[in-house]
Order: sequence, then C-alpha cells, then structure tokens
Amino acid sequence: MQMRIGGLESASSDDRWIRITNPATREEVDWVPAGTEEDVQWAVDTAETAFEGWRETPARERGKILFRAAGLVREIHSSLAPLLTREQGKPLREAIDELRGFANILEFYGGISASLQGDFISLGKSGECVVHYQPLGVCGAIIPWNMPAIVMGWKIAPALLAGNTMVMKPSSTAPLTSLHLARLLEEAGIPSGVLNVVTGGGEEVGSPLVRHPKIQKLSFTGSTETGAQVLALSREIKKEIVLELGGSDPMIVWKDADLEAAVAGAVRGRFYNAGQTCNAVKRLYLHEEIASQFLQALVPRIQALIVGNGLDPQVEMGPLHTATGREKTVRQVQQVIEGGEGKILVGGEVPQGSEFEQGFFYQPTLISDVAEDSLLFTEEMFGPVLPVRTFSTLDEVIGMANHSKFGLGASIWTQNLTIARSVFRRVDAGVVWVNRHLTVPPEVPFGGVKESGLGRENGVQAIRHYTRTKSFFVAD
Ligand code: NAD
Repeated sequence: MQMRIGGLESASSDDRWIRITNPATREEVDWVPAGTEEDVQWAVDTAETAFEGWRETPARERGKILFRAAGLVREIHSSLAPLLTREQGKPLREAIDELRGFANILEFYGGISASLQGDFISLGKSGECVVHYQPLGVCGAIIPWNMPAIVMGWKIAPALLAGNTMVMKPSSTAPLTSLHLARLLEEAGIPSGVLNVVTGGGEEVGSPLVRHPKIQKLSFTGSTETGAQVLALSREIKKEIVLELGGSDPMIVWKDADLEAAVAGAVRGRFYNAGQTCNAVKRLYLHEEIASQFLQALVPRIQALIVGNGLDPQVEMGPLHTATGREKTVRQVQQVIEGGEGKILVGGEVPQGSEFEQGFFYQPTLISDVAEDSLLFTEEMFGPVLPVRTFSTLDEVIGMANHSKFGLGASIWTQNLTIARSVFRRVDAGVVWVNRHLTVPPEVPFGGVKESGLGRENGVQAIRHYTRTKSFFVAD
C-alpha cells in the first residue's frame, strides 16, 4: 500500500492539516494532512502501476490476504475501538461491533475468493466461448464519517478481491480508524500501491477523485445532497458509479407483533450511533390497536438510555458527530413542535450538565402524533429523534411508508406471513426486514431506490460489479 497523505513531506503551514476532534469533548484527537488534487493524481498513478501485478495475483491469494487482515483486525479491535469512539463519538461497544463487522466483511470476501470463475458457452458448430470476468482497473471509494470502518469494508473488499486497485478518501472528520485499517491490510500483505488513501476535504480530494479519467468506477457513500453533485459530475464524464445515500426507513408494527421484540427493535434501530445510521428506523408507524400499549413500553426504555462520552463503558448513546448535525436536529424538532405537528413524549432538548457542555449531545427523543408532511418525515432525520404515527389499514400504512423521496430500508413487525410478504412487495426499498431492522450482513446485497441511491453493494454479486466481461471465442 502507498500512503501519501496530503503531501505529508511538504506540509508547511496549518492549512495543509486537518484537526480531528472528539465530538464528546471537542478535545484534539490527532491531525491528518489536507490532501489536494495533486495527491489524488499521485495516488491514481501509483494504483495504476500496481494494477498489473495485482490483477495477475490469483484470486485465492488475494482472498488469503483479506483473511489475514481480518485476523489482524480481530487481534487488536479492542485497543483500536477507543480511537473510533474518540474521532466519531459512538459508544465503545458500538465501536467494537463496527470493527468486528469490518473483519467479518473481509472474511466473507476472503472466503468466497475460490468462487471467482468464468462461464463456458458451447456454440455448436460455430465453436465455443469462455467468458472471463476481468477487473476494471483503478477504482475510487468515498467514505462518510458515520460508519467509517464498515463502509470502507463494503467498498474495498469486493473491489480488491476482484483484482482492482484503489484510491480511497475517508471522511475529513473521522479518517483515523480508516488509516489504521489500511495499515493492517498492508501488514497482511496487500502489495504496495494496491490500496491508496488520500485524506482531505470533499472539494479538494473527493471531487478530483470523481473527475479523474483513470478512475474506472467510483463508489460513493454519503448524503443525498452530495450524492447529487457526484452523480451530475459522473454523468458529465460518463463514469460508472455506485451511490449509497440517505434514508428515511419506516418501521411498521402490525397489531399481532411481538411487542417486546418490536420495542427493543425500535430503540436499537433508532438510537444506535445516536441515530446517525443510513438505515436507522427514522419513521415509526404503529397499528392503532396496539399504539398506546407500545408507547407505554417504549417511553421508559428511551428514558433509561445512558447518554454521555462513549469512552465510558456504561454509555449507550454518544453525542452527534458535528455541531452542524446537532443544529439541524434542534431546528427540525423546534419547527415541528412550534408548528403544532407533533407532541414530545421523551427528550426534545440539549441535555444540561457539565459533562455535556463541550460535546454535541442531544437527548434521545420520541415525538408522537407527527403530521404526515412534517419535515421529520420528509427530510432525513440524522439524529436521535423518533417520530411516530398511527395507522389502521395496510393500504394506509403502505401509502405512508412510500410517501418519501427515500427508499433505503423498511421493516414490518408481524407474525403474519401474508402481511409481511405484502409489505415486502409494495414498499419502496432495497431491503425489507421482517421482525428486525438495521442489520446488514455482508452476504446481503444492500442499496436504495429513489433518492437513496443507485447500484448495490455487498453479497457475492458485488464482486461482479467490479469486473467486466471479456469473451474468448474459439471457432471450431
Ligand atoms: P457527506 O455527503 O457530507 O460526505 C460523504 C463523503 O463525501 C465525505 O468523505 C466527504 O468529504 C465527501 N464529499 C463531500 N463533498 C464532496 C464532493 N463535492 N465530491 C466528492 N466527495 C465529496 O455525508 P456524511 O455527512 O459524511 O454522511 C452521512 C450521510 O451518509 C447520511 O445521509 C447517511 O444516510 C449517508 N449514508 C448512507 C449509507 C448507505 O449505505 N446508503 C451508509 C452510511 C451513510
């Protein structure tokens, strides 16, 4: 791996560096170089040079390296987790989960490396054809701050396994864990130049990466707003892209649901990572026959969540990642309450107390009777706020669920298979869970419809997405 990070050698003034701070305390965690277009150029050239050797490496060898890297991550995940917590804000237990998830992704792709095979077509008297699946070349990856390790795994593992080399840009506010993971891949045997990391801002590094003519395919994960810019740019230059964007997942609780499981699912689905997960439960729809019983059980569960600095092992929910993210959450809640479009049942405030003074904390919040056109339903709510609405029929709730520009995930909580299948067929989403929400194992293809994205990641299919066919036709 080559890691020229933002012209490290020539950094001479502060604008060449980005300060990474802890969102719980605003204390400094570290600095990374602020990359430039020149660094992107250097990284792409390096990846291009490394491509010839990597594409010739047998897939099983590439898989073994991913496996070895997973082992290294598992060895040190407990000691690396505090860094993820300090740069991102999430509680330690979630940081550990995420690093294990990263190792799991590498193991999944490492484990299926032997299945990378071509197709044989017999053409009778005309001859025969062997279809090869060849790597594309240098691929690009742009990563958000909310799940920096998992999203990195989703992008690099299938692309590298398929024989591509890569240039990756981590988020400018949470790049440190990604850098450590890249180092572990190097230690595991990824050859120099195969995986390149350039730290820096969206305009300075992300945009040049999208525009670069040698990047054969670019996978972007981030907000729908930035995704629209990336899409416009990639269309101009006719680049193949994958966009994994925002979501506003509905969770639908039918009248026969196991309420205890559904309440636990709503708490975890919404408040995990302080609500900053693309496929979090962002809209809760309760059948009117069980709504009041459900809310009675849900309120104390939310009130009991322990909020604080994620480094404290007791803490269940950390701060929001940025000041801007918290401001947006405050604004969204204020507008809804002032407009009479909902009723606060829990939270709704910035928590008070010396331990919360410096960080970007917000109380876990539950708002009932939310109006259908309220911005809590129409915008992505990327914070710990759960808006609720009741329904009486399946048609009504499907209408509500699809009344959104997003279409990432959705869940239905029921014992009735007919209801579950009906929701699966009719709801706009890339994944529909039954009696579960949030979980995305690497085996399962993931991605959205509508403004939630374009293309899919994960699953065995993702390897093919990083190849193109070349047919070897032998005449009889
Ligand atoms: P963001 O769009 O602000 O940034 C994402 C990445 O894009 C960062 O690395 C950023 O530096 C870079 N970037 C910014 N401007 C750019 C530009 N003009 N050109 C190229 N790159 C640019 O998103 P974020 O705030 O980091 O992440 C949160 C968002 O990501 C949420 O909307 C969330 O739902 C979404 N997300 C989606 C998925 C998914 O799989 N669908 C997964 C995780 C997060």
